Amino acid sequence: MIELRTPAEIEQMRPVGRFVAEVLATLRDETAVGTNLLSIDRRAHELIRRTGAESCYIDYHPSFGASPFGKVICTSINDAVLHGLPHDYTLRDGDLVSLDFAVSIDGWVADSAVSFVVGTARDEDLRLIETTRRALDAAIEAATVEHRIGDISAAVAQVARGEGYSINTDFGGHGVGRVMHGDPHIPNDGKAGRGYPLRAGLVVALEPWFLATTDKLVTDSDGWTLRSADGSRGAHSEHTVAITADGPIVLTDRSFLGVD
Ligand code: MG
Repeated sequence: MIELRTPAEIEQMRPVGRFVAEVLATLRDETAVGTNLLSIDRRAHELIRRTGAESCYIDYHPSFGASPFGKVICTSINDAVLHGLPHDYTLRDGDLVSLDFAVSIDGWVADSAVSFVVGTARDEDLRLIETTRRALDAAIEAATVEHRIGDISAAVAQVARGEGYSINTDFGGHGVGRVMHGDPHIPNDGKAGRGYPLRAGLVVALEPWFLATTDKLVTDSDGWTLRSADGSRGAHSEHTVAITADGPIVLTDRSFLGVD
């Protein structure tokens, strides 16, 4: 069921959006060559506790999960792109890191993800990351009441195809509000002008993610982490966006912190 939020409810979602933005900015700033993934999770846990937020991940146990997630952040490294379960791994020079983070505050959820490279970056990794960012910008631009879901999907796909990346539509954007994953599903590929008409009050997580040379995923032996089938690297950019009569509001915007 698709739920619409009143302008007052969208205002109530601003604090959680801001907190998620701040945590990702902090974690990105503190993550470097030599950082262990478990310490990123511990730090995220500490920031959650300090604020009184509630993790959306720690007890998360959907049908495809082997057991509850048990951590508070997804850390997907290199060929891992989604749902990366933090484990005892120390980042090396040139690793491509994707952090995906969702919490609730006062019953409202925000969800956001960022990719970056620690140490010396390879040009192809920067191009992949930049493409997910541009696709997210295009998705946000399409998130207006004049459009339909398919316009968002088509906008994402156009950016990806323009750089030669293929697209997996199994995992994509979703409604977000009282829970992390709600209707509608927003695939990262689709036909412009088709699908549910976007309405004021719809709050969605938009999340382009691409793999360098495949659109196939495999699940890691940890039961959670999704990796590219061919070992190529992946990147992921996500924001929680409220569609309003006056245009999209990016609730997890980090730009006020001086970071992208
Ligand atoms: Mg997310």
